Amino acid sequence: MTADALPDLAAYDAVLFDLDGVLTPTAEVHMHAWRTMFEDLFAAWQITPPYTDRDYFDHLDGKKRYDGVASLLRSRDIEVPWGDPADPPTADTVCGIGNRKNEVFSRVLRAEGIAPYPGSVALLDYLAERGTPVAVVSSSKNAAEVLAVAGLASRFDVVMDGVIAERDGLASKPAPDVFLEAARMLGVDPGRSAAVEDAISGVESAAAGGLALVVGVDRGTGADELRAAGAHVVVHDLAELVP
Ligand SMILES: [Mg+2]
Repeated sequence: MTADALPDLAAYDAVLFDLDGVLTPTAEVHMHAWRTMFEDLFAAWQITPPYTDRDYFDHLDGKKRYDGVASLLRSRDIEVPWGDPADPPTADTVCGIGNRKNEVFSRVLRAEGIAPYPGSVALLDYLAERGTPVAVVSSSKNAAEVLAVAGLASRFDVVMDGVIAERDGLASKPAPDVFLEAARMLGVDPGRSAAVEDAISGVESAAAGGLALVVGVDRGTGADELRAAGAHVVVHDLAELVP
């Protein structure tokens, strides 16, 4: 697809952005944290086959943390009690293991900081000039922390994150609930809004929500996979969407 065939996102009533991998390269921090945590766990529990980055894309990327843990363990025929979100990171429950990963993530984020993708900032600048409302729709419970560290917090009126989803009992991506709730919070019609996502489950979520336009951002998942999940167009960098 040539550049002039790409849609103008300012033509939509609002644009709903995933955070990790779309606005900030947090996916790398998440991948690093998951790998560190699961390699330790697999070694301690003698789980095979070994953890690989493909596991991240197949089971973890874009999902709520605990759902991801359960999905990955299930792929190795391992079942542990679900536990409770208040479980300590040392607990051998789905929640405890998820909290263990979160501890590693926060440590890396605080130590290294995070800069947003320049192309994503350019698109946010363009949409701000045009007065197009923007929201963040993230499964992460770290969304507020990541937005603050990246210097993006003031740009979004609505941040629909994993904390709100859990509080309100909203189903995880790929269910459409979080995109629909973010559109409701912004006061816009999802059928006249656009979504920007880099994960299969996120693209499926936005497509299931009936978003007028679903933009897939290929950060390694694969353009064909994103299109098959429901993306109408696929870009490699959001700067491609700045006219
Ligand atoms: Mg993402």
